[in-house]
Amino acid sequence: MSRTKIVAGNWKMNKTLNEATALVNEVLKNTNEFDEVQKIFFTPFPFLNDISKQISGKKNFSVGAQNCSEQVSGAFTGEVSAVMLKSTGCNYVLVGHSERREYFKETKEQLTSKIKLALDNDLKPVFCFGEKLAERKNKLHFEIVAQQLKEVLSSFSAVQLKNIILAYEPVWAIGTGETASPAQAQEMHRFVRDTIAELFGTETALNISILYGGSCNAQNAQELFACPDVDGGLIGGASLKADDFCKIIYSF
Ligand code: PEP
Repeated sequence: MSRTKIVAGNWKMNKTLNEATALVNEVLKNTNEFDEVQKIFFTPFPFLNDISKQISGKKNFSVGAQNCSEQVSGAFTGEVSAVMLKSTGCNYVLVGHSERREYFKETKEQLTSKIKLALDNDLKPVFCFGEKLAERKNKLHFEIVAQQLKEVLSSFSAVQLKNIILAYEPVWAIGTGETASPAQAQEMHRFVRDTIAELFGTETALNISILYGGSCNAQNAQELFACPDVDGGLIGGASLKADDFCKIIYSF
């Protein structure tokens, strides 16, 4: 089993370029590039190239985009394609974040196309999914998560799954300050791994990294990362402060 441990910061629509490079400088100064944790900065599009240059040559640091177009190229004003992302030096892309699903009404067809284009362009997609509060209250969370996984991932092969990372992000925990308990996170991560085993076989399931996201911070990261099926975190708010982000990196 060779699961990569990952701590990824999703900056969302925050920071100027100067603030962003200052944050990355602080993180580089206070972490060890040779530890085994893959650290990813999911920056806004305009910063991708600068931050890629800033971390260039640093082991275990990468840059990712927060979205990509489901189209290859052409007359789609304002969109950013996977090939463009790759050309900036970035290596990862978020697909299916709950804010994209909710505010931009992204469909399973769009998400499938984004993952396909990401993989075609040598970008690793971090595929996000998770239930809403009402779904959990109605005990539908396992059903919803299984559906979100199957409706998109069944278009891909076990070989392609080697380059996909999963992120379980219960919507009720994103940006709310309410975190899944370690028991809730472990229970769902185990379920996700079992679902991947059902779809693609045990080896694929044992090797895929599954991140937890949803108000993960410097205080709770350690107990979440201690769960056997939690391979790291996708961090929103707490990734905007170098101090907090570094503490999370050291929470394994
Ligand atoms: C996210 O946006 O992916 C996220 C997990 O946000 P937060 O950590 O702020 O809940």
